[in-house]
Amino acid sequence: MTQSLIDLSTTQMVSGLRAGTFSSRELVQAFLDRIDAVEPNVHAYLSLLPEQALAQADKADARLSDARAKSSSDDLPALLGLPIAVKDLLTVQGMRCTCGSKILENFVPPFTATSIQHLLDAGVIIVGKTNMDEFAMGSSTETSAYGPTSNPCDLSRVPGGSSGGSAAAVAAREVPVAIGSDTGGSVRQPASFCGLTGIKPTYGRVSRYGLIAYGSSLDTVGVLAHSAEDAALLFEQMAGADPKDATSVDVSVPSIKFDNRTDLKGLRVGVPAEYFIKGIQPEVEAAVRKAIQTLKDMGAEIIEVSLPHTSYALPVYYLIAPAEASANLARYDGIRFGPRSDAESMWGMFRETRGELFGPEVKRRIMLGTYALSAGYYDAYYGQAQKVRTLIKRDFDEAYQKVDVIACPVAPTTAFKQGEHSGDPLAMYLEDVFTLPTNLAGVPGLAFNVGFDSNSLPIGMQLMGPHFKEEVLFKTAHAYQQVTDWHKRFPAL
Ligand code: GLN
Repeated sequence: MTQSLIDLSTTQMVSGLRAGTFSSRELVQAFLDRIDAVEPNVHAYLSLLPEQALAQADKADARLSDARAKSSSDDLPALLGLPIAVKDLLTVQGMRCTCGSKILENFVPPFTATSIQHLLDAGVIIVGKTNMDEFAMGSSTETSAYGPTSNPCDLSRVPGGSSGGSAAAVAAREVPVAIGSDTGGSVRQPASFCGLTGIKPTYGRVSRYGLIAYGSSLDTVGVLAHSAEDAALLFEQMAGADPKDATSVDVSVPSIKFDNRTDLKGLRVGVPAEYFIKGIQPEVEAAVRKAIQTLKDMGAEIIEVSLPHTSYALPVYYLIAPAEASANLARYDGIRFGPRSDAESMWGMFRETRGELFGPEVKRRIMLGTYALSAGYYDAYYGQAQKVRTLIKRDFDEAYQKVDVIACPVAPTTAFKQGEHSGDPLAMYLEDVFTLPTNLAGVPGLAFNVGFDSNSLPIGMQLMGPHFKEEVLFKTAHAYQQVTDWHKRFPAL
């Protein structure tokens, strides 16, 4: 029983709970058993809440059986009794939130992130908080102050990052779905490395309130799941304007209806030459091109498009993101949050605390950011980067005059070995070359599995769309997932 429960899709779990086929307690227990079995090898979680989760499952079960007795399940919350995991940079009142850093080792937030509150209102049960690169800076989950997470497809490899814990937890079936954040690719690249579907919504679509800030003009909250349909279930609940986040946007959230249609007639898919560059792993390019052919076979029209400023996205991102991070991270000074190091003076205490408790990658970003913002350099670096950012956004605006979605690889490679890029920050930064542009432009992106390489490692394709057109991305990926079964293959862990 327990073994088969964790193999169900999230959509099936939600309807099974409603129908009373199994209870929320049975479902949560099945995942807790799985966590006991595989977590020592995967290390996806930074904290687990088994007793609390089971207690909430019992409450959900009481409501579910009550509704069944009265035959009135209509007003039950949409996801009642469903276990999820949350990346450890989204606050949940009373639950420790480390952001993968020693500087927040003992931080217990007094409030809950709006995105998570929406999910709690929809009835989900949080089983744990997941591992991540420190302050979401990284592409491998190796910069976590609490040790790396392993890729369930090959334990010697990274799960991607920075939402690597969320991705690994879902891929290892330690939870059906998980929440991550994406500032430059942190939902989509780990989704790609672990064979999952991951959505980075339009900037402003999901509230950032309670998301510990990295690059505030780029940060988004996303979902990692086994399929587009499963990811959409959570996306719909999380999205919506929030008076506590002035950058959230009041655009109606569609209720996405999926069917079994596999006909993509009328859909115009753009393929940008700038995303098929030298240096990309040949098996990745081949799998993505094959998936594009599949979309064509399903009736889509394939159109070449150009996003001419793509090659500037990486330098622009690595000026803007660290600049914003250097300001956002100034608040961690040993006074307001976390542990404090002793020193003679106030300045000495700041220095000691930050020096001891931030990891090397975070310090590198703060140095880069403060440099780019310093007097005399501001115009040359930060100001210039902002101008080029506008050009990148315009590239997308123009392309979407001609096409509905744009298809490209998620990352130039499949999952790399742990330690492979640790000594080479530039090689690590290059992993994000295809995901950063959407964050700079604020448009949505969706990653999903379109095959495996010769080492049996998953390969991801990205669909990018115009602002607030997540529904098209979900539906296109869903149609593809109707005619293929890549997304149903679980790692043999
Ligand atoms: N890997 C990128 C970085 O290190 C993106 C991270 C993210 O999206 N949070 O900045």
